[in-house]
Amino acid sequence: MAEETIFSKIIRREIPADILYQDELVTAFRDITPKAPTHILIIPNHLIPTANDIKASDEKALGRMMSVAAKLAQEAGIAEDGYRLIMNCNKHGGQEVFHIHMHLVGGHHLGPMLS
Ligand code: C5P
Repeated sequence: MAEETIFSKIIRREIPADILYQDELVTAFRDITPKAPTHILIIPNHLIPTANDIKASDEKALGRMMSVAAKLAQEAGIAEDGYRLIMNCNKHGGQEVFHIHMHLVGGHHLGPMLS
């Protein structure tokens, strides 16, 4: 079985985080080291280590992650100008925490994604 990460503790509110949204499927909180004026992580409440581990049974939580991202972008006031949604996978993707998370980043022009 996959090992829990610090994100499970954030979901259970055992360690502090700036949680912006939580329901029965997902949790969203501000990234502790923001790379842009708005930098929020949206995660499923159940542990999925990497994008490679996503199953059909996870689709409801994954769909909720997307709709919560859109809602939080609106609330942050970055929807119209735009933003980026990113999920890193494994070593080449630069994944550091092995509990899948969608980065919602915006608040200024982000430049080309691949450079
Ligand atoms: O996609 P990746 O795994 O590299 O991103 C992990 C993210 O989790 C980083 O942006 C890091 O700042 C964030 N993080 C956090 N709170 C923690 C540990 C990591 O926001 N306690």
